[in-house]
Amino acid sequence: MSEAAAPGGATQSFQAEVSRLLQLMVHSVYTEKEIFLRELISNASDACDKLRYEAIAKPELLGDDGRLAIRLTTDKDAKTLTIADNGIGMTAAEMTENLGTIARSGTRAFLDKLGSDNAAANGLIGQFGVGFYSAFMVADRIEVVSRRAGEVSASLWSSDGMTGFTVGPAPEERAKAMSRGTAVTLHLKADAQEFIEPFEIERIVKAYSDHILFPVELVEGDKTRQVNSASALWQRSKSEVKPEEYKEVYNTVAHQFDEPAMTIHYRAEGRQSYAVLLFVPSNKPFDLFDVHRKGRVKLYVRRVFITDDADLMPAYLRFVRGVVDSEDVPLNISREMLQNNPMVGQIRRAVTGRVLGEIETLAEKEAPRFEAVWENFGAVIKEGIYEDFERREQLLKLSRFRSTATTGWRSLAEYVAAMRTGQTEIYYLAGENLDRLKASPQLEAAAARGIEVLLLADAVDSFWTSQPQKFDGKALRSLSQGDVDLSAIALVSEAKDEAPAEDVVAVLAAFKASLGDAVSDVKASKRLVTSAACLVAQGAGPDLALDRLLQRQDRGMSVKPVLEINPAHALVKAAAKKQADGQSGDVADIGGLLLDQARVLGGELPLDPAKFAERLNRLVARGLGG
Ligand code: ADP
Ligand code: MG
Repeated sequence: MSEAAAPGGATQSFQAEVSRLLQLMVHSVYTEKEIFLRELISNASDACDKLRYEAIAKPELLGDDGRLAIRLTTDKDAKTLTIADNGIGMTAAEMTENLGTIARSGTRAFLDKLGSDNAAANGLIGQFGVGFYSAFMVADRIEVVSRRAGEVSASLWSSDGMTGFTVGPAPEERAKAMSRGTAVTLHLKADAQEFIEPFEIERIVKAYSDHILFPVELVEGDKTRQVNSASALWQRSKSEVKPEEYKEVYNTVAHQFDEPAMTIHYRAEGRQSYAVLLFVPSNKPFDLFDVHRKGRVKLYVRRVFITDDADLMPAYLRFVRGVVDSEDVPLNISREMLQNNPMVGQIRRAVTGRVLGEIETLAEKEAPRFEAVWENFGAVIKEGIYEDFERREQLLKLSRFRSTATTGWRSLAEYVAAMRTGQTEIYYLAGENLDRLKASPQLEAAAARGIEVLLLADAVDSFWTSQPQKFDGKALRSLSQGDVDLSAIALVSEAKDEAPAEDVVAVLAAFKASLGDAVSDVKASKRLVTSAACLVAQGAGPDLALDRLLQRQDRGMSVKPVLEINPAHALVKAAAKKQADGQSGDVADIGGLLLDQARVLGGELPLDPAKFAERLNRLVARGLGG
């Protein structure tokens, strides 16, 4: 067979993204090239899973070949390694589709993460499920012979990973050798000859694929032996399992290659029995903020893989990965019916409760490990506060926040324990950026009274706080809403707490007149101590941070904020004097400046940047005697 004209017709080109990926693989200097075997075995195992699932409805697909297995064969003379399975197989059209495009998100996520920096590939290959194409790290030609279960003909896909690929009918002798499934033959590169050695292959299988559910067999001469343990490890008892075995299952089941931050393994007995093996990752999975918010926990029924789409976890625990293996759910239930199956519903509730319980225990007993989990997934868990009414209390209790009282994390229980005499509410400030929140003028009155304020900087915070929330009988209240009254709590600093003087009242009225409908009101502030001005929402309106978020999505109510002015600030006093002297032009300039300044402090632009600059220049020039 010549390189240019493989059997099966014209060369087709790869999708552009695949070409890019292949370039990376072909030229890869990534040292742990052996991960290609983990990827091909994982595909073979998926193919066996798929066949077993389809065979529940159509047992004839299995024929008299019901023992599903993955077989590894080497040929020293031809310098090839073949990974074969008797799973679902592919038609010619499926091969064109699956081995010419990038189907799955794991490989896509790798490319996304890589961006345009090809040099970063070597650091990243091992962390992603780079899939089938990774075999081009070790092979300069790959041939795939496949026969879909139930089909008569077999097809051959062939590629050098550079010019494109061909697909056509498989040569007769190769078709005959296969009753069903897929055989991937790698023509190993000169620098990848170690993957022909049986002991090397065995080592790699043990390291990465020991707990694949199907036997992985190594053929040596006329002997065939199984080289993995092929156990459903979650069926074993906890005491029999070593940490590195858990990690391997995590890698194969979740197709994630970080260390699990939490491992939850137990068996439920009672009304239903099922085995559970779940992991909390230590890195954020790449699809964490996908719009679909899908979980990926796999449902098995008596060791048969059914689906990873059964929503076994609520969306706010979608970062949890792993397996639930039920003894009782009927095997022949369709995937569509699973969503509404009461047994699955019961499992979902119980497992959700257990996972939250384990996270709580971690919080109590191992705060640093818990905080690492919270750091990654807190923003997701908090979605549950507004989605899972039943568990709202529990989730609020579990939640940790940034606060003005400490640089670390703070729980609501800690907050409540440290409340000041006379304080009856839990105060918070929501926004987009922690540093900016820390600098908010709205904090000043609270600081003057020694009141702790929670700083909520995740986008999700604006949503759950838009519902009235209570913890331990105390309402959560935003400091950027108009009607906060802190006067029942004693001052700890020098700040004054008295009605504004007459000339200040007059200048506020002048500000209001000159600002027109840019604000709904101008008021003397009780919350400002050092800043000159800040913006707050009207008493009954939505929190400012939420309104800003909604406006960006064109859903905002665009309520005009209230401009609060610090009567004790030097600039305000100066304006009051100008007002008394009848210099209304200056007063209007200062009013406009105060509004823009308050907007900037809240993370927005001045209303009209050109006018802002004009005003500023006018005032500064006058101040400099211009
Ligand atoms: P992924 O496994 O994440 O989908 P891969 O690049 O590993 O991505 O594989 C691409 C696709 O090729 C698979 O989704 C599957 O449809 C198909 N495929 C690969 N190997 C096999 C196989 N041994 N049997 C059947 N289909 C396979
Ligand atoms: Mg794969």
